[in-house]
Amino acid sequence: SRTPVTITITGAGGQIGYALLFRIASGAMLGPETSVRLNLLEIPQGVRAAEGAALELQDSAFPLLSHVDVYDDAARAFSGANLGLLVGARPRTAGVERGDLLAANGGIFGPQGEAINAGAADDIRVVVVGNPANTNALIAAAHAPDVPAERFTALTRLDHNRALGQLAEALEIPVGELRQVTIWGNHSATQFPDVAHGTAAGDPVPALLAARFGGPDAAQEWLVDEFIPRVAKRGAEIIEVRGSSSVASAAAATIDHVRDWVAGTPDGWTSAAVVSDGSYGVPEGLVSSFPVESVDGAWRIVQGLDVDDFARQRIAASVAELEDEREAVRGLGLI
Ligand code: NDP
Repeated sequence: SRTPVTITITGAGGQIGYALLFRIASGAMLGPETSVRLNLLEIPQGVRAAEGAALELQDSAFPLLSHVDVYDDAARAFSGANLGLLVGARPRTAGVERGDLLAANGGIFGPQGEAINAGAADDIRVVVVGNPANTNALIAAAHAPDVPAERFTALTRLDHNRALGQLAEALEIPVGELRQVTIWGNHSATQFPDVAHGTAAGDPVPALLAARFGGPDAAQEWLVDEFIPRVAKRGAEIIEVRGSSSVASAAAATIDHVRDWVAGTPDGWTSAAVVSDGSYGVPEGLVSSFPVESVDGAWRIVQGLDVDDFARQRIAASVAELEDEREAVRGLGLI
């Protein structure tokens, strides 16, 4: 459209930012009809890297790219924003206590929430990528009381896509045939990748796994001993093999999340961390991953799924971790 969509990307000078910007500008996120204006936010030491990316964006001559601006001030960067991709965060480093990490991120996501509250467009939608993503989203939302809480989300689409990739490999099927797979809970090692409702070209995934592994018990063993931990620890596997953390896949998942949020999910559900309304026993207000559909530009939690005892326990364990993180940031006065 003629009026560009304004997208604020934080940590835009970092690795994920570098992979993300060019795909957004090419139209992969909002489609070939929508022009975009990119506001790149960085901390002062990241500004030069973001400026370098801005030069390369210019050199790419993307027809859909209307403007690129680089900021080190959140209020200016979020002014008029329709979309906020919150990538920059204080990374976990050896020897940093969890409380210190949460406090550092409170110092980032609190002010960004305030800037969004003060100056973003009325239709602002936010996805937090920077870790701990769920709790960073909770902090940002708490500082934006005038923005409907459901506009704040955190990324679990990378976990979701990793689960699809592992299933497709195990079942020797094209990944595009898979539907109705869910990531529940926190974007952390406690997440629960759930295939109980999954289908592949219409066939139930549990039955396909039972056929593949020689019975339902063997399939369950594969899920518990291999699939779930491999998906949950895939980030560490990438670091070990590649020598640095996942970047292009994290950017691709961010694109998928926003594209589906804006354009809808006609093929059925995906996974996103959204503010809980109490569904499936997840305490209200926690930012937790659910099976979600996007309808008319809003995420809706898929209702009415049967959750067996195994799934219930796994979900409860991850939700307990989220409650713990919420208590910790409350204790620090960050929400
Ligand atoms: P990356 O771009 O690689 O990662 C950015 C964030 O994404 C990290 O918090 C990282 O968490 C998180 N992340 C989420 N999922 C994944 C995944 N699957 N794989 C890897 N990371 C994932 O980090 P860089 O250090 O290259 O860049 C960060 C940039 O953010 C820097 O340029 C820094 O200056 C900037 N920054 C900007 C801020 C701001 O705009 N106000 C505030 C803070 C930083 P994890 O650490 O757990 O891997």
